[in-house]
Amino acid sequence: MNKALRKAVIAGNWKMNKTRTEAKTLIEELIPIAAKFSSCETVICVPFTSLETALELTKGTNIKVGAQNCHFQKCGAYTGEISAGMLAEMGVEYVIIGHSERRQYFAETDLTVNRRTKAALAAGLTPIVCVGEMLSEREDGITEAIVMLQTIAAFTGISAEEAKKIVIAYEPVWAIGTGKTATDEQAEEVCAFIRKIMADKYGNDTAEVMVIQYGGSMNPGNAAGLLAKENIDGGLIGGASLKASDFGVLLEVANA
Ligand code: PEP
Repeated sequence: MNKALRKAVIAGNWKMNKTRTEAKTLIEELIPIAAKFSSCETVICVPFTSLETALELTKGTNIKVGAQNCHFQKCGAYTGEISAGMLAEMGVEYVIIGHSERRQYFAETDLTVNRRTKAALAAGLTPIVCVGEMLSEREDGITEAIVMLQTIAAFTGISAEEAKKIVIAYEPVWAIGTGKTATDEQAEEVCAFIRKIMADKYGNDTAEVMVIQYGGSMNPGNAAGLLAKENIDGGLIGGASLKASDFGVLLEVANA
């Protein structure tokens, strides 16, 4: 598997942070930093309320804009929801699907992750599909079983051509927002396992070009080791994406 075939994606997940005014300030700080680093894809997944601001400010820059969720229906009586088509029409290019916080707090299931992924693809968005085990599952030795279940469910009914357009984020739940990072080896082991699942399902040619990120307390101090691993093609970054200087270091490391 040749890492050089893949362009790393460094994606910030701002979660429920930053008002529009605060978003503007952060994006204005990020633009000149990101401009220096073009060998990775730079994405910011901002709250729905800041999408328009982000799209406006990043026009003509190398920063892409993503959302943090989308519904699986095109339209209808789904109060509070946003469709993939609505995002695509605005100019949004990425959408996070099945983040563990959505699974944990908003009853997201493997089935809805699959349906949202298909809806995102149909609208022309790039889904960032999140999978990962909880601490108890790792301790019980079932990390691979859980990740396999989540991944196979998410990719059910998805063709090889579509799979190539999907980014997978391996995010061990115990490492998200906790300051506890998976070791480089733990992260690589599961990302390699995910690539093998994709190879078994779609063949090596497809698996080889699929972007598989690591996410979970990635920061300026630990990014170099993680991003150097053969099967880790970038990161999904929460906390460290909220400070332009920290996010900038991650971009720099990904471009090294
Ligand atoms: C995330 O939100 O996907 C994430 C990895 O958060 P953090 O970097 O804060 O652990």
